[in-house]
Amino acid sequence: MTAEVAPRKCMGVDCDKNAGTLQCPTCLKAGLDSYFCSQDCFKRSWSEHKSIHKKTTGIYNPFPSFTYPGNLRPVYPLSPRRTVPKTIPHPEYAKDGIARSEQKFVGRNNIKILNKEEQEGMRKVCRLAREVLDIAAAELKPGVTTDYIDEVVHKACLERDSYPSPLNYYNFPKSVCTSINEIICHGIPDQRPLEDGDIVNIDVTLYHNGFHGDLNETYYVGDKAKANPDAVRVVETSRECLDMSIDLVKPGMLFRDPGNVIEKHAKTRNCSVVKSYCGHGINQMFHCAPNVPHYARNKAVGTAKPGMVFTIEPMINLGTHRDRTWPDDWTSSTADGALSAQFEHTLLVTEDGVEVLTARLPTSPGGAVPIPAAEEAKNEA
Ligand SMILES: [Zn+2]
Ligand SMILES: [Zn+2]
Repeated sequence: MTAEVAPRKCMGVDCDKNAGTLQCPTCLKAGLDSYFCSQDCFKRSWSEHKSIHKKTTGIYNPFPSFTYPGNLRPVYPLSPRRTVPKTIPHPEYAKDGIARSEQKFVGRNNIKILNKEEQEGMRKVCRLAREVLDIAAAELKPGVTTDYIDEVVHKACLERDSYPSPLNYYNFPKSVCTSINEIICHGIPDQRPLEDGDIVNIDVTLYHNGFHGDLNETYYVGDKAKANPDAVRVVETSRECLDMSIDLVKPGMLFRDPGNVIEKHAKTRNCSVVKSYCGHGINQMFHCAPNVPHYARNKAVGTAKPGMVFTIEPMINLGTHRDRTWPDDWTSSTADGALSAQFEHTLLVTEDGVEVLTARLPTSPGGAVPIPAAEEAKNEA
């Protein structure tokens, strides 16, 4: 249900009139709404009005004419590109953005089986990736920008002799993906301060000693988010979907199976499953076979065998499963602007089950919060 929109008031000093279509050009550039009733009123109010520009100097919405599906806006400029010392091994795409070996293997159905030494390499990088995610998550609070989270992730990677895998991967501009509220995935860290009530996903991947390790979690920002039954429902459902799908993993599992379990559980919570982005093989390549969809009745190819490594990373929405990409060509929003949440682990298939290479530690920030009882009852009714 939507509220009726009240007429917009003029921003002019001591003006009670309704606003017309005239907007302050400086505010417009910054992505702020400020409408005036007339040019005269705007001029008269200028000396007082311009003080609000101070706070937002240099900050702007890069795509002011894009119709955003939700309330979130990009807050530019992005900080300058961060650098990685030459002494740290870089992945092949670090220079020009193109992951050539991935393209060679694209669509291949033969899934790599890692030998003992390679498995040890994956264990190591995944352990480091967990450390970095936990360090970043500990910094989350209202007022902190996602650009600051990016800085924290970047530094923590370098301290671990690791390259932050997202940096320049197909020209992604930052070292981590931060996806707030209606953003499904691939959010670009920028100058927007986190707000009490936001949910934010941090998706960390490290490249260390020739291997990539990938994980993400969604966190509640401040106390308001944990008190919002809808936010808790989508976050906890997505956390449970990942856990339930990991329970399936062992030799013989079909890569089309996790999607059935995930979508079934999402539906019991009145949530939907994103189809456009999938789990993936990961090893010396960031993304490779197998493809692991999170939705039911998919046609994914392949069977799990000991030594295979891949991610499962369900993206769960409160509203439609459909997504829409911002004009930055990365940020994926829900098409209706409703909340989305995600969790991801990198998994190694063992002789008789699975090893969660990016498992949480006793000290890891975040973790499950109970779904308010009223919500549970509503769903059972
Ligand atoms: Zn990831
Ligand atoms: Zn991933």
